Amino acid sequence: MVAASRASNADDEHDPEGATIAFERQQLATLLDAARRRLADVDAALERRAAGSYGRCERCGRPITPERLAARPATRSCIDCAT
Ligand SMILES: [Zn+2]
Repeated sequence: MVAASRASNADDEHDPEGATIAFERQQLATLLDAARRRLADVDAALERRAAGSYGRCERCGRPITPERLAARPATRSCIDCAT
């Protein structure tokens, strides 16, 4: 979408139809940032697994409950430290 709109010289700010290109680009950038953060979290979880520390809270060192890990596999903290 970014590549397609780069060549466009359209003045979409005054288009009464739907969202502007700028808005859609910002929305895509936000989604991309969130996906990159999630990927970094998963990579970090895999590193913790390889190091043998996966499933331990990084703050207090106690085990993270299986239920929390099932819901948030890449979490770094137990529910007590997260709240
Ligand atoms: Zn903790």
